[in-house]
Amino acid sequence: MRLSRYFMPILKENPKEAEIVSHRLMLRAGMIRQQSQGIYSWLPLGKRVLDKVNAVIREEQNRAGAIELSMPTLQSAELWQESGRYDAYGKEMLRIKDRQERPMLYGPTNEEMVTDIFRASVKSYKDLPLNLYHIQLKFRDEIRPRFGTMRSREFMMKDAYSFDLTREAAEHSYNKMFAAYLRTFDRLGLRAIPMRADTGPIGGNLSHEFIILADTGESEVFCHKDFVGFDIPSERTDFDSVEGLQAIFDKWTSLYAATSEMHDEAAFNAIPEGERLSARGIEVGHIFYFGTKYSEPMGAKVQGPDGKEHFVHMGSYGIGPTRLVPAIIEASHDDNGIIWPASVAPFDVVVINMKSGDEACDDTCELIYAALTKAGKDVLYDDTDDRAGTKFATADLIGVPLQIIAGPRAVANGEVEVKDRKTGARETMTIEAAINRFVA
Ligand code: ATP
Ligand code: MG
Repeated sequence: MRLSRYFMPILKENPKEAEIVSHRLMLRAGMIRQQSQGIYSWLPLGKRVLDKVNAVIREEQNRAGAIELSMPTLQSAELWQESGRYDAYGKEMLRIKDRQERPMLYGPTNEEMVTDIFRASVKSYKDLPLNLYHIQLKFRDEIRPRFGTMRSREFMMKDAYSFDLTREAAEHSYNKMFAAYLRTFDRLGLRAIPMRADTGPIGGNLSHEFIILADTGESEVFCHKDFVGFDIPSERTDFDSVEGLQAIFDKWTSLYAATSEMHDEAAFNAIPEGERLSARGIEVGHIFYFGTKYSEPMGAKVQGPDGKEHFVHMGSYGIGPTRLVPAIIEASHDDNGIIWPASVAPFDVVVINMKSGDEACDDTCELIYAALTKAGKDVLYDDTDDRAGTKFATADLIGVPLQIIAGPRAVANGEVEVKDRKTGARETMTIEAAINRFVA
């Protein structure tokens, strides 16, 4: 992508409305724009990051055996009347009428709809287990939307729903998502700690919130500090192994960890003082097992091996991609801007032409840009007429992990500089070596 032809509206000044660093940096880097309270456009740079976050989420959901589909944002009120939540949900639900005066709503979550899909076609235990997910916009009319996309009214959610014949089988499905979440957040460069949580309006009996520690987090959390060093389930994790996944779950729930709603002061104080962690955190994921809470009122049942009909046991599993993007920034930035983990960086590398219009610099940059693009890299080429200082500041602000800097003096020697955004380390090397570093 040539920056001269891209759309990346950088702000020079710090936006006044932004209270936390991620919101400030997302606005300054031209990633998002607020359209009305708590409702955002994702501008091209932000959209790239969001897509990469979703790609990681999707890979790990698929690895764990979940199957992607797409359900609509608008739902009919009837479904929600069946489960009893149409009246129970309250003011967070945006209720709409169509031209026939039929009550509709903008989905805040999809338990009812997915249960409807399930009951229409699954009739036998032989078709279980089943886990269906989508990545879709949700709307919740939050009282206090704030911090940019961290808490917005319209937001994206990956929500998965599992269906099983028995409670035991449902617990295995729960453990699959538990392990998949640990892997997902790790790949996004985050340390998320599963904490016992309240089940809220989703309802149910087993629930964990995945929390990232951050001073700007809205939740107050308490845990054992050893969680910070726990091993993440490997890529070779066998998601069909009941014992294997139970062992992962047991390990990750063996120490105290709870949000303030579930906090047990006495249990926390039983941890030696030096090993206690009392902090603020951001909830990036939340998983629930809720048994037959929806399958019973909505009549979602299958025939079991005993020939009888059984209401299915369900769970639901949410991750907030549009909250994860700012959460990653909260965890990874410095005074100059964002520092993206490679897994979600909007571009792999930015080529900075320090003197656009200078023939040698232009030729060198074009050569590198073409070679890296051909090698399948996402390359941003700063070919604008801005001063070198402005280009450096922009590159640092948008947080691309590596910068290739081509200035007249180095280029005259057939060289460029490669800068690591995170460490700031710079290395001078031949043009060929710079290309090979990415292509190899
Ligand atoms: P919170 O406690 O932060 O209001 P919640 O418990 O209501 O969230 P869930 O129903 O558990 O949210 O939704 C699953 C995930 O969706 C959350 O873990 C979070 O990552 C994301 N999410 C929920 N509400 C919002 C929001 N208003 N803005 C952005 N992301 C959200
Ligand atoms: Mg929650």
